[in-house]
Amino acid sequence: MIESLQHLPQAGGTHAALSERFTDLAPPLTARQAAIESARCLYCYDAPCTRACPTGIDVASFIRNIHDHNIEGAAVKILQQNIFGGSCARVCPTEILCEDACVRNNELEAQPVKIGLLQRHAIDNARFKGHPFQRAPGTGKTIAVVGAGPAGLACAHRLAMLGHGVVVFEAREKPGGLNEYGIAKYKLPGDFAQQEVEFLLSIGGIEIHYGQALGDNLRLADLHTRFDAVFLGLGLAASRRLGLTGEDAPGLMAAVDYIATLRQAGDLAALPVPRRAIVIGAGNTAIDMAVQLKRLGADEVTLVYRRGFEAMSATGHEIEIAKTHFVRIRTWAAPLEVLLDEDGRVRGMRFEETRLEDGRLVNTGAVIEIAADAVFKAIGQGMAVLADPLAPGLENELEHERSNGNQRIRVDAGFRTALPGVYAGGDCVAPGQDLTVQAVQHGKLAALAIHDDILSKAEAAWPT
Ligand SMILES: Cc1cc2nc3c(=O)[nH]c(=O)nc-3n(C[C@H](O)[C@H](O)[C@H](O)COP(=O)(O)OP(=O)(O)OC[C@H]3O[C@@H](n4cnc5c(N)ncnc54)[C@H](O)[C@@H]3O)c2cc1C
Ligand code: SF4
Repeated sequence: MIESLQHLPQAGGTHAALSERFTDLAPPLTARQAAIESARCLYCYDAPCTRACPTGIDVASFIRNIHDHNIEGAAVKILQQNIFGGSCARVCPTEILCEDACVRNNELEAQPVKIGLLQRHAIDNARFKGHPFQRAPGTGKTIAVVGAGPAGLACAHRLAMLGHGVVVFEAREKPGGLNEYGIAKYKLPGDFAQQEVEFLLSIGGIEIHYGQALGDNLRLADLHTRFDAVFLGLGLAASRRLGLTGEDAPGLMAAVDYIATLRQAGDLAALPVPRRAIVIGAGNTAIDMAVQLKRLGADEVTLVYRRGFEAMSATGHEIEIAKTHFVRIRTWAAPLEVLLDEDGRVRGMRFEETRLEDGRLVNTGAVIEIAADAVFKAIGQGMAVLADPLAPGLENELEHERSNGNQRIRVDAGFRTALPGVYAGGDCVAPGQDLTVQAVQHGKLAALAIHDDILSKAEAAWPT
């Protein structure tokens, strides 16, 4: 995929020097800082921070454990609700979730308890002898999970805890989903994503098969007959298109594909890096892309969005990060034309200015041109697999709905699809927030529903 940028110069320098620029965005708390921070918690009754956490972590309780120097106890409280508590402590937008809700985030103090950093302190410093959770006695049931991202693996872990066998089928060659291939490198540096998966799998009872893609060499009909239930945690693998001529020209690519290559790069210095880049989009992916390009040495990165700042889906915190990296943000401009040089490579883009008219976004006719050696699209992801033929006879039975032009799988409150025995969660279902923590919660709740459904079916079948 990075072939599209092969004509660009390499980042240069040394891998070691560049790696230094991708160390932790937020350094961990020291033991003393954690002690001071945990003392700020008021251990609120019916704590708003817990209500704001998509996985319902008992925040007051784990912070009290930290305060009492019971780090393992704190970590267990977190992991009980969120087995990806380590990565969520690093990637969660806490400023719009638990920390936003914290009672210390009031007008007088405006200083919420640093819940994310305390969570990280507990998970990173807990020393368990073996896996902290026991598996229930075996049920004799086996569930197929498709996709080894946060949703699929959270589902697999909870099913294993409940005594089921789990077989995970993953299209790529590594587990972790976007934790491994998508999250900004400075948020989850090093091999943290793989270490976390290893820890999760150490509960036992979970097998993973790689290079198995549903809709390609894997058929839903087959899984449906071979397993007691199927969970789909497919994420959103397809990048949306701009719909412009020149979209496939060298120099124009999806931001997620570049980020995946960056995260897997053995030698950062060999990565092609544009001197001037345009990133189209307004979400966290766009910000991550722009900031990482800057860290790789790009001189000029312009993020272009067709609406105003207030409509950007990136959080205020993320936008601040972009500003501190000198990313230029150009609002009210919609992509109009990809500009190519005589060799057919990207040399920039033409945008048309926009404005709101009676609440509707309209083009003003004023055109601007931005020169760039590369353009990255970060305008959203959609489901890829449902476009492929699934198993004959079953493919039409999964109901999809279109939200923002995306196909997603429709599920009920127990993450059941329209097809009995098939469940789905994470980014591939609607409606969703497209956050890691949300995917983990979906996987966990789907596992509980699968468990209940399987057991109630077994009871119903039991002769009286
Ligand atoms: C660039 C980027 C940055 C992000 N940053 C943040 C952040 O900072 N904080 C945050 O909370 N969230 C962030 N997110 C969102 C977060 O990563 C996702 O919400 C989360 O990973 C969703 O988990 P999932 O398991 O549903 O899907 P994924 O993580 O996408 O996992 C899906 C898995 O299914 C596999 N798969 C797909 N199709 C098939 C198939 N046909 N057959 C078999 N396997 C298949 C994939 O290979 C993958 O392993 C970011 C997303 C992106 C794209
Ligand atoms: S809202 Fe803030 S002070 Fe209250 S329990 Fe949660 S973290 Fe502690």
